[in-house]
Amino acid sequence: MRVVLATHNDHKVQELRRILGPDLGPIELVGYDGPEPVEDGETFEANALIKARAAAAHTGLPAIADDSGIAVDALGGAPGIHSARYAGTRNDADNVALLLENLRGVEDRAAHFLCAAAAVLPDGTEHVVLADWPGTVLEQRAGEGGFGYDPIFRPEGLEVSSAELTAEQKDALSHRRQAFSALLPWLRVHLG
Ligand code: IMP
Repeated sequence: MRVVLATHNDHKVQELRRILGPDLGPIELVGYDGPEPVEDGETFEANALIKARAAAAHTGLPAIADDSGIAVDALGGAPGIHSARYAGTRNDADNVALLLENLRGVEDRAAHFLCAAAAVLPDGTEHVVLADWPGTVLEQRAGEGGFGYDPIFRPEGLEVSSAELTAEQKDALSHRRQAFSALLPWLRVHLG
């Protein structure tokens, strides 16, 4: 039973294959290289659905997609859905530098990684869930693993950044893990 993973982001493909791999059962995850829709939703959930709908329509297969980012309490939830393009360059190092700059001297450093995971079936049935990984934004980068904002995000209850976790440790905890673990049972039931 083939399901399209509607992303061109290699980090996400790798992470999702690792996360979902053991739980997929008869589901075979296939890549997507079709057109990418404009992500003009105002929420993570809306954007995840936009991506999954486009891939389902293009391939005729069930599709899953995610939309994720970091929301910082002291910045009113920014960068939020704009996380990938926060600094205007689509470059992780620039985004991290801008967030550190915008939080310079700010005491309340509470933040959340958020992930919406969506599934869309060829008959138009759809489902979306949102998951939250709370933590704080560090004063400076730490660690070489992960991607995006990982070097400056310290998950709640840990003493290291998410870039200092092994891939397996991050997979056990992350917003993406939580979102897709919640989506998978729905997908199994609806794929029969
Ligand atoms: P998306 O591809 O539109 O979902 O954008 C996600 C963006 O949010 C990425 O480019 C990263 O900047 C950030 N992000 C999402 N998940 C993570 C994560 O697990 N670690 C670090 N940054 C993340």
